[in-house]
Amino acid sequence: MATASSSSSNPLHGTAMSTAGQAPTYDALVLAGVDLDAMVAEHVSRTGIDGIRCVASAVNAAPLHEGTHPAIESLGALEALKTATWAKQVAQAVAFEDTVIAERVEAGTRKNNPAWGTRGEVALALHVSPDSGASFMNNSRLLAEDLPSTLRGMRSGLITFEQALVVVSGVRDLRVENRQLIDALLWNGQQSCFEAGTAMLRDRIHCWALALEPKAAADLEDLAIKRRYFDGYQIDDYTVKFGGRLPLEQGLPMLQAIRNAVDKPRSAEDDRSRAQVAADTAFEKITGTKAGDSVPVELLLVMNAENLTEDAQHPVLVPGHGFLSAAKGLELLAGSPENPLDTWLRNLYVAPETGKLVAMESTGRLFTGQLKKFIKVRDQYCRTPFCNGRIQELDHVVQVSRDGKTTEENSSGRCKRCNMTKEAPGWKESPISGAGRHAFEITTPSSHTYISMAPAQINGSGPQWPPKRL
Ligand SMILES: [Zn+2]
Repeated sequence: MATASSSSSNPLHGTAMSTAGQAPTYDALVLAGVDLDAMVAEHVSRTGIDGIRCVASAVNAAPLHEGTHPAIESLGALEALKTATWAKQVAQAVAFEDTVIAERVEAGTRKNNPAWGTRGEVALALHVSPDSGASFMNNSRLLAEDLPSTLRGMRSGLITFEQALVVVSGVRDLRVENRQLIDALLWNGQQSCFEAGTAMLRDRIHCWALALEPKAAADLEDLAIKRRYFDGYQIDDYTVKFGGRLPLEQGLPMLQAIRNAVDKPRSAEDDRSRAQVAADTAFEKITGTKAGDSVPVELLLVMNAENLTEDAQHPVLVPGHGFLSAAKGLELLAGSPENPLDTWLRNLYVAPETGKLVAMESTGRLFTGQLKKFIKVRDQYCRTPFCNGRIQELDHVVQVSRDGKTTEENSSGRCKRCNMTKEAPGWKESPISGAGRHAFEITTPSSHTYISMAPAQINGSGPQWPPKRL
């Protein structure tokens, strides 16, 4: 036992025990000179996971610090606790992955990718998306293997979570020896690098990185090609925002096409601003349709029967995107007479009790046609808990290779990454019937189970509709 006293003069056998059989009081332990820090550490080590939960609730059970000075001190100390917790998670995550790898290497399985599926499990444990789980694991490896001083700084609460992330992202693309060198340099001057803001810390790391590895122009060009992306997301009932990052050879022609359209002389009746012309041009180039016309792409709408009337109130669901106001839903449903929208789903009403859609079956090996549309609407996002990724593949809950059938019950919409993760050795999934909405159980290789439940279709039912002020 890690206390200040030797076993022969154990304080628990002496003055600290006030009455025989009763737990010693805190004050008595302090008086007896017990090392309470060591005792808490021992408690956590002996009680395992419960010990960690106990510390978390103990911190929250303690009263708030009164007075402005202690309050601010307490905020700083809690920040140190957060970073120290993260440092512990880093070590724990790396140890978990190392164990899985060692077991598979010993068994001679999955030689090419012995860590398969580990990041998916980490994501589930942290309640984050698989992308965030993978990036957590990458950051953890980097900290544990190449940035020992920074990790020590996190453990002892000398630096913040945000500062540690700046270090990690600043050295990520460097060679191992240069990462280690920067880690050492940062701590050379008694962490003076961490006394300024994160922008200065970032600049300093960037400056060292440039000096250590002056990247050739070709490298940067390759990087620009590799990191290209373009994406959009709905930000409210009325707006979708787009953004992206493109290499010069793609970005410049796009920019030019938009600038040409903006600079073109316009008729006197055209009172659009330059920004509006740019937006219309981008729309026209991408969809091949003139702005203002009805769009020949399919828009799925899920609504209650009463949404088809003028005084409708329930929001309308656009699967995978979010909700629209009832009025906007009706307007889209009406569409343009020349080119009506595909409103395939307007008759797919939702069971009021469970929020479940009507089911369909298919006899083929692939999810096709109506069943395919149906699953996408039913699931909206990737069905791995916390993932929220876009549905990229329709997956058999029980694989076809294990006699899984191509039915609505045995289906789930998944993002590519999750569909791959579920093939990891020891990963099992099975449908659950009678759960109201569609559901299946996931058992991970480390024997943790999670339930994936299809989202409730539109909120026009249940006790929380319409929303009431409390
Ligand atoms: Zn996913």
